[in-house]
Amino acid sequence: MSPNTTVQSVTILGATGSIGVSTLDVLARHPDRYSVFALTADRRWQVLATQCLQHNPRYAVLNDESSALLLAQELSRQGCKTEVLQGADALAQVAAHNDVQVVMAAIVGAAGLLPTLAAVEAGKKVLLANKEALVMAGGLFTKAVKDHDAILLPIDSEHNAIFQCLPNHRPDCLVQGLQSSGVRKILLTASGGPFRNTPLADLRSVTPEQACAHPNWSMGQKISVDSATMLNKGLELIEACWLFNARPDQVQVVIHPQSVIHSMVEYVDGSVLAQLGNPDMRTPIAHALAWPERIVSGVASLDIIATARLDFSAPDYERFPCLKLAQQAAARAATAPTILNAANEIAVAAFLQRKIRFDQISQVITSVLDKQEVSEPDSLELVIATDLKARQIAHSVIAAF
Ligand code: NAD
Ligand code: MG
Repeated sequence: MSPNTTVQSVTILGATGSIGVSTLDVLARHPDRYSVFALTADRRWQVLATQCLQHNPRYAVLNDESSALLLAQELSRQGCKTEVLQGADALAQVAAHNDVQVVMAAIVGAAGLLPTLAAVEAGKKVLLANKEALVMAGGLFTKAVKDHDAILLPIDSEHNAIFQCLPNHRPDCLVQGLQSSGVRKILLTASGGPFRNTPLADLRSVTPEQACAHPNWSMGQKISVDSATMLNKGLELIEACWLFNARPDQVQVVIHPQSVIHSMVEYVDGSVLAQLGNPDMRTPIAHALAWPERIVSGVASLDIIATARLDFSAPDYERFPCLKLAQQAAARAATAPTILNAANEIAVAAFLQRKIRFDQISQVITSVLDKQEVSEPDSLELVIATDLKARQIAHSVIAAF
């Protein structure tokens, strides 16, 4: 880093989650480059209190009111100067604040859309982990990025890998679409999750604990279940289309169980570029934080000799019906991805609460997509109304099981 570089102020939306904790780990390695402006969470105030004592942000925001009161009491008891705010408006406020340069969008699910959009509309450098925001409102979201000169950098390991393999390594180089950049297709890799080899008949009885035990990555519960159904890869396909101006048929999903190649880009001349590394989210986080420079992330060097082999296969749609549903929603476009995402959030929550079986997650999504009409998502109000309606239908589908 040049000695004149100013310290950048960072807000982390979803600080107590898996991505939030990894982000704080990287930031703490570079106090000369970054300071923490605000940390936010849903309700886990004890974890947020510990983070505030360690990182001294100006603000801490909790979505839940009683948790915010408990946090404020604890911080004042400890003599910590961090100011505690509460509620959805406060999340947007610390994301859009004048004194912030970088926002890590790491809230899980649709709850992340409004604060992430607030950061985009304030023209921030936005590091996007919250893929659901882009899936549910991709057109409005990417338009806001352009209109407000925000910088959108992908944190999802696959998209960060694709970004690193694309020409010029610039976020705005693909405005004309993939083809005009000499790119033939994107190869989106997937580990296949914990049930890649589980006998199909056994998928009826797998537990939330088994679904959350991902073989390669340690993640939040919702994305872990999404990885087990491979709906996550479907969301990522839609995410890739928005981020890189690609058509769904230009994105090929490839099972790669080792999770060492994080994705690939194939050019028209036959070249295929891949980004490799240990499966540790601190690599894409550090990459996006410092882009276009490079900084230390704390990730161990990849032992390619120990890795020894890299395997690839095509996805099995009988095993992973959710992937097919997402591909169909991507092709259908309009509000189909919004409905898919909302139905999935309700189905996954019900599975985690043991109200439905694992194999019923795809059944809930199918029913909701069948019952709800799609329309052009031309306003945020319409997207939010579509999301809410899909959630209501999903609840009634689950109640009728
Ligand atoms: P997580 O469940 O570990 O953390 C979620 C965070 O969001 C927590 O801080 C929680 O307090 C906050 N949150 C939840 N609901 C909220 C609400 N209503 N209002 C405000 N805050 C709320 O999840 P995670 O694994 O860190 O994933 C976060 C996002 O990053 C997801 O969109 C996920 O798909 C994406 N992502 C995660 C990984 C990973 O390795 N964990 C990889 C790629 C992408
Ligand atoms: Mg991913």
